[in-house]
Amino acid sequence: MMKVAVFNTKAYDKQYLSEAAQNHSHEVIFFEAPLNKNTCKLASGFDVVCAFVNDHLDKDVLTLLSKEGVRLLALRCAGFNNVDVKTAESLGITIARVPAYSPHGVAEHAVAIMLALNRQIYRAHNRIREGNFSLEGLLGFQMHGKTAGIIGTGKIGVLTAKILSGFGLHILAYDPYVNPELKGIAEYVPLNKLYADSDIISLHLPLTPDTYHIINAQSVQQMKKGVMIVNTSRGGLIDTQSVIEGLKSGIIGYLGLDVYEEEDGLFFEDLSGHVIQDDTFARLLTFPNVVITGHQAFFTKTALSNIAETTLKNISDFEAGQLDPANIVKSEFVK
Ligand code: NAD
Repeated sequence: MMKVAVFNTKAYDKQYLSEAAQNHSHEVIFFEAPLNKNTCKLASGFDVVCAFVNDHLDKDVLTLLSKEGVRLLALRCAGFNNVDVKTAESLGITIARVPAYSPHGVAEHAVAIMLALNRQIYRAHNRIREGNFSLEGLLGFQMHGKTAGIIGTGKIGVLTAKILSGFGLHILAYDPYVNPELKGIAEYVPLNKLYADSDIISLHLPLTPDTYHIINAQSVQQMKKGVMIVNTSRGGLIDTQSVIEGLKSGIIGYLGLDVYEEEDGLFFEDLSGHVIQDDTFARLLTFPNVVITGHQAFFTKTALSNIAETTLKNISDFEAGQLDPANIVKSEFVK
């Protein structure tokens, strides 16, 4: 039996992790506090810490957790850019993650954002509620026959490409590795051609030092006037100031974000009674052609159930000394 401290617990985490825990014999304790230097003490005496994308697992936090006796960091997410993997390794803390829990849900959300932006569903809905049935300003474009550029053709990029191909879009792709699943569906092209020819650009690549601000002033300059950019991957892929300039100049016709570079301290919390201090984010909210969701692309019942089951299985497998190598995060994955 392992003692598991779950940090940053929301009601939905508790529900799904508790259900999955019924099939395992661990003691699982839920803390609402996010994991940081001040809250590490809560993990005293626990073998396992279960954390999420917005928990900061830097050198200080990991060192404190190691002192408290933590041996496994069970991430209930796929991304690990919030974890100092090298330090964890040097401290002998194993990192487990859930590499794939529902790539379909993320791809479907990316397309939901595209449709909402194109047909301005958010504006139309608000108008109708006010008894305004005018169509002025709601003109959309037919997606069939247009070109979509998919940057990153791993699990989620492939599914997004397939959905859009089903809509009748021509699909361009860019990835250092050609995914055979896209044979006959997408045409791999250099990035500059993807930028120049795409009506919609969707990002599906990880955030690494190489991909940081891949969308910047120079890349925006290469894009088609009126392009739609959708980012459901990681906020740091986009230099927000550059896309704001692109929106003001009209090069960017639509922007859809499920992630934001400075989302820490904003996303996942109800701040409706607070003043937003981030002026860049506040500027984004003023554009009629920007849609933002708060890192909810993963958020489906299927995903929560898969995440909880794999997280509990990772913990049991770790205890049995047989953690699936595909679920272990190693420092060789990070530069
Ligand atoms: P994946 O590892 O299956 O695929 C990523 C692909 O990106 C790989 O094919 C890789 O070769 C490619 N890539 C790496 N560097 C690249 C570069 N410089 N240019 C182009 N392609 C590059 O990952 P995935 O599961 O498809 O996830 C994609 C992204 O979605 C990740 O950033 C992940 O963190 C994010 N994500 C977001 C949510 C959400 O809720 N918003 C949920 C899950 C995943």
